[in-house]
Amino acid sequence: MKTTVIGFPRIGADRELKKITESYLRQESTAEELTQEGRRLRKFHWQLMRDAGIDLIPSNDFSFYDTTLDTAVLLNIIPQRYAELNLSALDTYFALARGYQGSAGDVTALPMKKWFNTNYHYLVPEFEAATQVKVAGTKIFDEYLEAKTTGIETKPVILGPFTLIKLAAFTNTTYQEHLTALITAYQEIIHRLDLQGAQWLQLDEPYLVKDLSEEDRSLFLNIYQKLTNSPRNIKLLLQTYFGDVRDVYEDLLALNLDGIGLDFVEGKQSLELVTASDFPEDKLLFAGVINGKNIWRNNYQKSIVLLDKLPSKHVVLSTSCSLLHVPFSVEQEEFPVEIAKHFSFAKEKLTELKEVAENVEQETAGWEPNQRLFREKRIVEKTILAEQLAGLTEKDFQRQPEFKKRSGLQKRTLNLPVLPTTTIGSFPQTREVKLNRARFKKQEINDVEYTAFLKEKIADCVAFQEEIELDVLVHGEYERNDMVEYFGENLEGFLFSKKAWVQSYGTRCVKPPIIWSDVSRKQSITVKWSAYAQSLTNKPVKGMLTGPVTILNWSFPREDISIKDSTLQIALAIQEEVLDLEANGIQIIQIDEAALREKLPLRKSDWYKEYLDWAIPAFRLVHSKVAPQTQIHTHMCYSEFADILPAIDQMDADVISFEASRSNLTLLDDLIAQNFQTAVGPGVYDIHSPRIPAVKELEATIKILLEKIPVEKLWINPDCGLKTRGETETFESLTNLTRAAKEIREVLVHAVSEN
Ligand code: GLN
Ligand code: ZN
Repeated sequence: MKTTVIGFPRIGADRELKKITESYLRQESTAEELTQEGRRLRKFHWQLMRDAGIDLIPSNDFSFYDTTLDTAVLLNIIPQRYAELNLSALDTYFALARGYQGSAGDVTALPMKKWFNTNYHYLVPEFEAATQVKVAGTKIFDEYLEAKTTGIETKPVILGPFTLIKLAAFTNTTYQEHLTALITAYQEIIHRLDLQGAQWLQLDEPYLVKDLSEEDRSLFLNIYQKLTNSPRNIKLLLQTYFGDVRDVYEDLLALNLDGIGLDFVEGKQSLELVTASDFPEDKLLFAGVINGKNIWRNNYQKSIVLLDKLPSKHVVLSTSCSLLHVPFSVEQEEFPVEIAKHFSFAKEKLTELKEVAENVEQETAGWEPNQRLFREKRIVEKTILAEQLAGLTEKDFQRQPEFKKRSGLQKRTLNLPVLPTTTIGSFPQTREVKLNRARFKKQEINDVEYTAFLKEKIADCVAFQEEIELDVLVHGEYERNDMVEYFGENLEGFLFSKKAWVQSYGTRCVKPPIIWSDVSRKQSITVKWSAYAQSLTNKPVKGMLTGPVTILNWSFPREDISIKDSTLQIALAIQEEVLDLEANGIQIIQIDEAALREKLPLRKSDWYKEYLDWAIPAFRLVHSKVAPQTQIHTHMCYSEFADILPAIDQMDADVISFEASRSNLTLLDDLIAQNFQTAVGPGVYDIHSPRIPAVKELEATIKILLEKIPVEKLWINPDCGLKTRGETETFESLTNLTRAAKEIREVLVHAVSEN
């Protein structure tokens, strides 16, 4: 059985690509140094795959920023405002990716969006009426030749035209106007690679795993009939991932394709689709069996059982998606062997591919150690926790009394003015804050010194908030590096890697924690900071926690228990913290669910039964036991939840804050239309920019909000946490925010007295 990989991580074992790119962008390295490092990394990765015995090795999966952007640039999909800067090709590319401000002009970057159900972000290609789609670049051809020169035959990879159209933006134009040119360009790419002697071309079409309309389906067929009909030597592989292709499977079989790539990890119906009919003799099935998204060892037995059900003569063994979503290698970690042996990052997955493929024919040396891993008991489950979970009843997920009753009670006890002002939690993480945390970690300062430092920061923060007369204060989150890592470190069951970086976008990488075992609370986590802040003021200080769904979604989850059960374990741990805060005099508690939407299934029909039906109750479990007077807030970093509004309301929080300043405010109409009960704090200014909003501007924004939201339901706050901002701009912005709220309150009082 032959093996392949859909794509390989490109940042390098030690994030070399990030480092050289950032150095180039700071103008500390030359374009030549950057391209040379790119070449070195590609060669290294190709050799790694060749040495591991992979048969079809991908090329053009490398990128200086993002492969969707690479495809757009290759096809000349470059909006005029970038072309007009007249920069070098490389700098135009970075201008599209990051924006440009300098002697040549001033343009913002293309928008960035999350790549399907991952934490990777792609740049949204933009077609204009004037866009002339044509093959303008050479990257895919160059990289194929580059590999060939080192003696490695590769399978070039490119984003397919259907997914490209579905993900792109169209400014004053439609896709129809560009369709012919786009198809011609792809035909030319196929033809040129054919002439170069390439044996395969992989066309990535992940959009096919989404719910497709009839229009989508005919667009897809129209494109692919044209692409596949001319005579050729090169073989075409249509690659999908992140789900199954139930809406077009039969169509794929009928097309003149040479390979069809399906995901057997996330594609719930993939097996059923393939076994329900005869797989065509003239095609190969690229079976995505090795998980490209998670970091656990593959269970060879399970893989072989699966492969036995497939038309094995026609199977090429593959990864479920690009290995872009896992870190480079376990070899770089310092986990004890007993732990490390359970992990498989990108490099280890190459060996797994090889070993599984070999074991289809006969048992080899890799088999026994692998099976031992799954026979052994990896962890000791916490029986108390299991009992606690088994004992949960309806009551545990339902806060009492109902929203309306407790809302009146909270108004009386908290005694806040109308349009209460607050922040989302974090205050600027200055150099000094980061430095002290680093020194504490390295044990250069001791616990007493570090605590004293944090208390001083908290006291300053509280004093400032009192001075500008915010209504609900926060302690500032100075003790946290990251909203998930901080809780992970304080919970039993999480592991932290040294170098397990995964690309999030461009040069930004994240290091997700690993959920290793049952999760429980080791000790109280945030109480001492919140209680200290509360001791300094008569105003309410809001406790600040990360919710269970976000903690799970930003970690590598276990595979031996369901993510639902893992999330419930985390929920119970956070529930303890909630009750602890409450017992220590904290009357308002915010539980952030910044990543709630991230794992929303790609198909609408799965939204509730596969996800929301347990994710929302997990959130409710966290706060179901608090007293009626305790006010629960939640926060989301985006405003795209019009389609799941009922689910958001069912979280049963008292207040929700979200991003609103950069998005159109149609969400507010939906809130009214759907009779949303939770009080809302739509962010009144954008914290992603250093710009300071003027009082008048904020007043105008609040007035707009008041046209849509009943005054008794509206909170005034920024978009998100302030940790990435500077102190001066933050202080000025918040000062203006409280001033604006006060002005509007005055107006409201007058309006009432005049009536
Ligand atoms: N409370 C967190 C903060 O203020 C929320 C962060 C987030 O939503 N991403 O930083
Ligand atoms: Zn946020």
